[in-house]
Amino acid sequence: MSAVAASSVGFTKIDLFCRGLRLGDPELAQLAEDGGTGIRRTRAGLGSGLELVLPGGVRVNVPVVEPFTRHSPYTLRRLERGRYALVRDGTEVVPVTLTSRPAWYGLTTRGGRTMDRIGTLQGTYLAIYQSRVCDFWRDRERQQNCGFCSVGLNLGVDDALEKTTDEILEVVHAARAESRITYVDFNTGHLDGERYLDLLEPALARIKRETGILVGVQCPPHSDLTRYDRLRAMGVNRVSFCLEVFDAASFRELCPGKSETYGRERYLEAIRYCAQLGARGPRTEPWVTNGEIIAGLEPVESTIRCIDWLTGVGAIPTVCVFRPLVGTRLAGREPPRTEDVIPIYRRLFEACMERGLPIGAAPNIRVSIVPLPEECADLSERRFPLKRAKIRALRGLLGWKLGRAGLHKSPVEMNTHRQ
Ligand code: SF4
Repeated sequence: MSAVAASSVGFTKIDLFCRGLRLGDPELAQLAEDGGTGIRRTRAGLGSGLELVLPGGVRVNVPVVEPFTRHSPYTLRRLERGRYALVRDGTEVVPVTLTSRPAWYGLTTRGGRTMDRIGTLQGTYLAIYQSRVCDFWRDRERQQNCGFCSVGLNLGVDDALEKTTDEILEVVHAARAESRITYVDFNTGHLDGERYLDLLEPALARIKRETGILVGVQCPPHSDLTRYDRLRAMGVNRVSFCLEVFDAASFRELCPGKSETYGRERYLEAIRYCAQLGARGPRTEPWVTNGEIIAGLEPVESTIRCIDWLTGVGAIPTVCVFRPLVGTRLAGREPPRTEDVIPIYRRLFEACMERGLPIGAAPNIRVSIVPLPEECADLSERRFPLKRAKIRALRGLLGWKLGRAGLHKSPVEMNTHRQ
């Protein structure tokens, strides 16, 4: 790997996912004093760590509570209140800031609950886990839940279980006014009776009608694929399917509930179907299909095959780094090594660019729990100037459209003011 790649912010973000950060009692006390969003156990089993902002506004949720982090070469050095240096083996690597806790987290909805019980910022977008806990967690004896997932351990602690459309809209308006969000993401696990889209549609329709901002859903694949035509017609902008692993045997082993209830083929079929819906539906609404997978749970070649399959059908891969979360069935495993996953993220960027997929086109969306394809550009020596120019033009167009919806300042600017 070139020296540029190894010193890039994208590399540092991936290295932090793989190695975590060592925090002793003095650092924890300083962090508590400086505010920040604290260390939350949040949804989907991936957001257990400390939210930091790297140079360029790159967000990262750094593992800090899992046992493997005790051997991390990374620590934090406080420079001044709220500003830190990320230190590796005693040498300062980059300056970092803490993400600030938005004031709206502490506001109360008309239903009487604090708004952070309804939704929270993940990076710079609003994330809402809109249901009771995934039904794969209900039968604890059969252990149908995915082996890496901690959502059944988390929900009810950090997230309210039942959320009304009115409450959600209150939170969306508050987050939009203060944090200038441009995107709201809804997530459900498995719900008996395939109710997930029925549950989400009222809120999706109202958010589009009342704010015009981007909205997306991450749910299991519905058996009636025309439901996705309906979402597209409503102006929904993103659908995401958590395939997790590409290898068929690994899928059966790690995701027993998904394997038995939906099957790997249904995930692939839904992704293939949704990816071609971009050509239909309202021209004014962008449409993206994501396939989410986890690096570190299957051989590197299998993850790369998955990236090529997803981009080949027109979907953008979302590739998380496996985190052995405390309390999960895979808690005893190690995260992958940085040097093993770098080829995955290099391929992620190159495959998206080769296919001309619109990575990084949505303005002001920074994601802290995965390395985004565009953040991996420095891992590749290939530049793709024409395709990058096309994406810049699309971003400008989307920025203009969202600006017309009343969003004139980016969340990154807003956070700079607060820190
Ligand atoms: S489907 Fe799997 S990963 Fe998703 S919430 Fe349920 S158990 Fe967790």
